Amino acid sequence: MADLIQLLPDAIANQIAAGEVIQRPASAVKELMENAIDAGATEVKLVIKDAGKALIQVIDNGCGMSETDARMAFERHATSKIRSAQDLFAIRTMGFRGEALASIAAIAQVEIKTRRHSDELGTRLVIEGSAIKIQEPCQCPQGTTISIKNLFFNVPARRNFLKSNPVEMRHINDEFQRIAIANSDIFFSLHHNDSEIFHLPGGKLRQRLIGVFGSHSNKKLVPVAEETEVLRLNGYVGKPEFAKKTRGEQYFFVNNRFIKSHYLNHALVSAYEDLLPTGTYPLYVIFIDIDPKRIDINVHPTKQEIKFEDERLVYNYLRVSVRHALGQYNVMPSLDFEQDPTFSQPTPIRPRSEASTGIGNVKPSGGSNLAAGHGEASSDASRHASNLKHWQDVYEGLDEFDAESEAQATPGPEHEEPLTLESDWKEEQGSMPGEPVQEKKKPTQLHNSYILTQIKSGMMLLDQQAVHERILYERYLHVLSQQKSTTQKQLFPRTLSLPPADAELLKELLEPINQLGFDIQEFGANTFVINGVPAELAGKQDDLKTIESLLEQYKGNLELNLGTHENIARAMARSAAIKKGKILEPNEMQTLIDQLFGCEVPYLSPSGKRCFITMELEELAKRFE
Ligand code: ADP
Ligand code: MG
Repeated sequence: MADLIQLLPDAIANQIAAGEVIQRPASAVKELMENAIDAGATEVKLVIKDAGKALIQVIDNGCGMSETDARMAFERHATSKIRSAQDLFAIRTMGFRGEALASIAAIAQVEIKTRRHSDELGTRLVIEGSAIKIQEPCQCPQGTTISIKNLFFNVPARRNFLKSNPVEMRHINDEFQRIAIANSDIFFSLHHNDSEIFHLPGGKLRQRLIGVFGSHSNKKLVPVAEETEVLRLNGYVGKPEFAKKTRGEQYFFVNNRFIKSHYLNHALVSAYEDLLPTGTYPLYVIFIDIDPKRIDINVHPTKQEIKFEDERLVYNYLRVSVRHALGQYNVMPSLDFEQDPTFSQPTPIRPRSEASTGIGNVKPSGGSNLAAGHGEASSDASRHASNLKHWQDVYEGLDEFDAESEAQATPGPEHEEPLTLESDWKEEQGSMPGEPVQEKKKPTQLHNSYILTQIKSGMMLLDQQAVHERILYERYLHVLSQQKSTTQKQLFPRTLSLPPADAELLKELLEPINQLGFDIQEFGANTFVINGVPAELAGKQDDLKTIESLLEQYKGNLELNLGTHENIARAMARSAAIKKGKILEPNEMQTLIDQLFGCEVPYLSPSGKRCFITMELEELAKRFE
């Protein structure tokens, strides 16, 4: 019988290995950019078409390669960076495995043009699926230009597995930013399709961070710099009042290599102690320089993990250094994170004039989030009647309520009116004779976060933030599908400058966002003018923060592949909703409850949190036995 075992042909072996190194366009971007840096380039340009699916091109002015090296570079385990196993423990370059180019060549169409300083002519190679198609001398500037076309062209399963362009582009942006931050002395640019997204001249780290995060970030940065015999720390941390609702602007680099570490993150965040509002994440860019002998980076190439010889030491050192930096720069928590002290007093409905002056833009100024002043909808008697009827339905129907049986309680077609926050509660106060509203017990707030209310069968506890998110979400979805909205013009337009990547995103989303009632115009140079905000937000929140938070949320949702409208509705609901910790008046709570049960899916917040739980009287009685 014939023997069965054969060696795999190189092309197939490379293709299999490529799966590990190159998972998506962003992984190729990382490998190519790191090669450019290892080659000593002072200028690195990245050109992307179609989120990297059509083209990834990296142009560098580094050392270039000889004709033989250019060919060799595409062989597996071909590297100029280590020569012996001992070298492994002293690695200072980004690459060292000699796998990247071989992997990329196995799954894409690659063209390389490269010339060394000392050579008159360069070399051009075209490789497709690991096979060299063309090799010829060529005229080219010193350095290397690699173009990768049609990534995964011969691995359809992988190609189909790629996410939408915004998601893939987001990953590319992340890689680009990490590398740009780690090498502030090098010029970088990023072009996507036909626009230049980043243009970052070489300079100091602070300048680089401003280039990446936007000019407004300058005032947020607190420098960190400490040194011992074992390690050196430097970089910046963000002032606590600028902490964001999502992670993102958080970077650790160990010997200039980006890493992720929950452990170090914990050390850093704990340095802030109670300066950070709950649920927020500080910006940080921290470089840790340590003798390569004391770390192990020979882990999986894509894992971005690292092992320290003495983790505890690094932990403590980081914590103390950041604490020190924050203390030195006298960073104090600002008082108005969550609420204004005047909130604890009962607040009257704000007169219209006040709401429309735009005075209250900077922070909530004693008005309530729910009781927007514009009375447009409140006189709508038919809506009122329908809401009241609905209210009764809900409260009577609550006996059968149960999160599994959504269909049962989905409101009927008479509730197709868009939900408004401001419509009902004034009238409720004015109480109509004979309405059931009169008999209701007023809801109560627990810990400024939950609403307790009585229902026929017992009691119901609602999560105010989840409830408001649900209400706003359905409302925004409706507005986006109807193409109508109410904008409140600002007396004084405000300008918003964003980091280049966010500016690009906002440009893309301008149309649907304006549809929600914003009036935002592009102003060039990553700056936007806000002429108006949705009427119900006017004067309630800092609109710049709302927009920033909207973008953060939107990016966070990208992985979910929601579609633009759905994503924007979610992101906006999340940004505009009242938060835990906000004191609510009984009538505001009642409005929330009423509007929640006018929603199509009152049970869950858009992100899947329960909006309320109920407890039967019987159950309650049992608890006391
Ligand atoms: P590694 O970076 O791990 O050595 P790669 O497959 O990424 O492996 O690259 C193989 C070799 O090709 C490198 O060691 C380097 O000698 C050469 N090389 C790759 N890219 C460039 C570049 N942009 N400029 C000069 N040399 C390069
Ligand atoms: Mg490499």
